[in-house]
Amino acid sequence: MGGSDLGSFHTLSPGPYRPEDQMKVQTDTHRCIGAGMCALTVPEVFDQNEEDGTVLLLDAEPPPERQAAVQRAERLCPSGAISVLLSE
Ligand code: SF4
Repeated sequence: MGGSDLGSFHTLSPGPYRPEDQMKVQTDTHRCIGAGMCALTVPEVFDQNEEDGTVLLLDAEPPPERQAAVQRAERLCPSGAISVLLSE
């Protein structure tokens, strides 16, 4: 996975959250250990693969009302498999 399609989304979290920020979420299924914290925290954005439990990204650009929860899921993920990028 490269980062070449990120466009202007280059400010790595955890930066200060601002409601006007646009968010882009990435997940790395190779790092994911299937702990499921993300799906429990924000089921509208994350789910788990039925076969191996690895993360499934449902919404790569979550709306503002979910962004704080997505950042929480990023912090809770034990394997660092979730990346949250904020536009400037
Ligand atoms: S919390 Fe992290 S390790 Fe657990 S399922 Fe989600 S991405 Fe994978």
